[in-house]
Amino acid sequence: MIQDIAPHRFDRRYDTRPAAGDDIALCYRKGTVLLKVVGEEYALPCFDEVIPVNDARHLFELDGNDCFMVMNPPAEAPEGFRYVPYMELRTVRPQEVAFAAITGAQLHRWYGSRKYCGRCGQKLQPSDIERAMVCPDCGIIEYPKICPAVIVAVTHGDKLLVTRYADRPFRGWALIAGFVEIGETLEDTVRREVMEEVGLKVKNLRYYKNQPWSFTDTLLCGFYCELEGDETVTLDTAELKEAHWLSRAEIPPRQNEASLTAEMMEMFRLGLA
Ligand SMILES: [Zn+2]
Repeated sequence: MIQDIAPHRFDRRYDTRPAAGDDIALCYRKGTVLLKVVGEEYALPCFDEVIPVNDARHLFELDGNDCFMVMNPPAEAPEGFRYVPYMELRTVRPQEVAFAAITGAQLHRWYGSRKYCGRCGQKLQPSDIERAMVCPDCGIIEYPKICPAVIVAVTHGDKLLVTRYADRPFRGWALIAGFVEIGETLEDTVRREVMEEVGLKVKNLRYYKNQPWSFTDTLLCGFYCELEGDETVTLDTAELKEAHWLSRAEIPPRQNEASLTAEMMEMFRLGLA
C-alpha cells in the first residue's frame, strides 16, 4: 500500500524552523505537485533546484530530509521538473516520493482551509508546539482534518461483492465504503453503509488493516464480513453505478498496489482472507 515505504523512514515530527536551500520544497498548484523527472521515476525537489527559499512551512521528514510546503510555488515547472496530478501519485515510483507528495498535499489542503477562526473570524496562527492552528483571540485550536471511513469486503462463500462508483474519477472495481458518522463505532458504520449502498445484512465482522489515504483526507479502516441472509442487491444509485458478486476466479488480479481496497480484493482472490 502507498504508506508501506520501508526501509524508507517517514517522520511526522513537528518543527517551526525556517527552510534552507537544501531542504525539500513541496510545491502544490491546483491539484498537482512539482516533482523532478528522473527517467521513468521521480524525486522530490529541493529549494535550490526550483525556487529561491521563500515563505514555507515545515511538514515532515523523509529519510532525514526536512520537507517544507512552499507558500508561493513557481507558476510553471522548470525544465526537468513536472507538476504531477494527484491521481497519478497512485502509481508514481519510487513509492516513498508518492507517499510524501500526497501526504503533503493533505496538509497543504488543510492549511489552505484554516486561515481564519470559524468562531470569531480572527486570523489563525500556527501552534508553537504541535500540528495545529490556534486563534489568538478566542483560543480555539484547529487540528488537521482526518476523516475516519470504512472499506468493507462483503463475502458470501467463494464470492466477493464488488462495486463501481457512479461519479468519481476512479473507474475500477471498488468495495463498499463510507465515512464514520458522529456517535457511530466502526462496526456500526460497516453495517449501515452496506445496508444503505446495497441493501444487505452482514455478520462476523473482522478488522483487517487501516490506511492513511490523503487523496480524500481519510483514515480508511478495512473490514471483511459475511453476508447474512438474502444475496439480492438493492443498489443505491446515487452512490453506485453497479454492484456484483464475483467468484475468486472472476476477480481481476491486483493492478493497483497503492490502495487498501486493492489489497483486500487481492487477499480474497488468493484465498488468504
Ligand atoms: Zn477565534
